[in-house]
Amino acid sequence: MKAICVYCGSSPGMKPCYAEKAKQLGEALVEQGLSLVYGGSRIGLMGQVADAVLARGGRVIGVLPEALKTNEVAHPGLSELHIVKGMHARKAKMADLADAFIALPGGFGTLDETMEMVTWNQLGFQAKPIGFLNVEGFYDRLFHFLATTEEEGFVKPGLVEALVLEAEPKKLVERLCNDPWPELGVWPRANK
Ligand code: AMP
Repeated sequence: MKAICVYCGSSPGMKPCYAEKAKQLGEALVEQGLSLVYGGSRIGLMGQVADAVLARGGRVIGVLPEALKTNEVAHPGLSELHIVKGMHARKAKMADLADAFIALPGGFGTLDETMEMVTWNQLGFQAKPIGFLNVEGFYDRLFHFLATTEEEGFVKPGLVEALVLEAEPKKLVERLCNDPWPELGVWPRANK
């Protein structure tokens, strides 16, 4: 494991705990000798996690679509910044550069990026661990809903259970590095 891709809010959220945990996650990545791959922005939780890694001497690789490369958004101090054509190219590049994925609290962008990686795992396009930083129960209701999707026969059995849900950044990073990621077989099932 060399690099973890972090998806997170381009907003800071309503409570200070979100920024605090984003910072702790950055520190945990550096402690484990891991590079950060992320969306390349300096705003919201994205900026917090990047700043925390850089402040500890870690490596941060940003991947930003051309259209977002303005002075207000691009982080000026990254170790590497890849400018790509659009959002699809960005997601593919981030996935290529990372060995695992973490979702911090965020909105539509965070959910879109993370669920695309879950889908690629489900289809067998990649087999890379995915974790959620469950700051003050932020992801509890999503996981409740995901359990419903499995119970109702719409997702590959075992995949929801394999997703790593942890409240503490250090523990989450350790689990992504050390827990085995299951082989889940083919999907969809060939039934009627
Ligand atoms: P959101 O959760 O909706 O704030 O979206 C954040 C996620 O989507 C990040 O992981 C980014 O990769 C991407 N994203 C959305 N908005 C921006 C933005 N203004 N600048 C850079 N990346 C963004």
